[in-house]
Formats: sequence, C-alpha cells, structure tokens
Amino acid sequence: MPDTLPYRWQPDRRPDPSPFAAPPLFRAMLRGVRATCPVCGRGRLFVGWLRVAPVCSACAAPLGLISADDAPPYFTVFIVAHLAIGALVAVDRSVRLSILAEMLIFLPATLLLTLLLIRPVKGATVGLMMKLGFMKPPDERDDG
Ligand SMILES: [Zn+2]
Repeated sequence: MPDTLPYRWQPDRRPDPSPFAAPPLFRAMLRGVRATCPVCGRGRLFVGWLRVAPVCSACAAPLGLISADDAPPYFTVFIVAHLAIGALVAVDRSVRLSILAEMLIFLPATLLLTLLLIRPVKGATVGLMMKLGFMKPPDERDDG
C-alpha cells in the first residue's frame, strides 16, 4: 500500500521535565504506603484520612496535582476480594459454620480490611503516579 499521507505522525518522545527530583519507583511507592511525601519521605502525604495534601510541608512538592481518582479503591477492592474470598472458601471447606456466622465474621472483617488498606494503597498509587508523571497541569489543581 503506497504511503499517501503527506506526513507521518511522530509521537513526542521527550517527557516533560519533572519540577522535582523524584526518587526511584519503589521508594516513592513505599513512602506513599507510609503516608509520607513520595518525593522527600518527610512531609505528610495526607490531610485527614484520604485527602492528599496540596503541597508537601517539607519539600513543597505539588502533591495536589496528583489525582488518583478511582484507582486506589479499585486496587483495594481487588486485593480485599481475593483475600476475603480465599479465606471464606478455606473456612467454608474446613469448618462447618452457618451462613449467619460466616456473615458475622466475614462482613466486618472485609470492611475492616478495606479501611485498613485503602490509605496505604492510595499512598502507593500517588507515589506511582508522581513517579510516572501522571500529574494535572497546574491550572487544574484542586484541593482533593
Ligand atoms: Zn516532600
């Protein structure tokens, strides 16, 4: 097939320069898991339970430009569902419990596990997104 296009599309291969020195990927994610700034590891990542701080209090990294949106809940549900369903199947095969007893054990346990994991998963996601440069332009900054 002859090339009839006047020009070929070429992707922009140069990434935007990062405004700060981002650490290696796993260090950034681990700092996020510990609820500290993925860049410096000293400032607090969250204001409250899950709200990301607009800027790092220690290094002024623009944390508010990272919008994790639905990724942390998705990852958390993925992890919790595998753990809860695996445990439920294991218990169901080894111990005779009524449906009510299983519900009284596994529903609160699933809720508790979800609440325990959502914050570190969101921190890791923010670290991942910051390292990969998934940040909003500065004019789209919000406080969430
Ligand atoms: Zn920082």
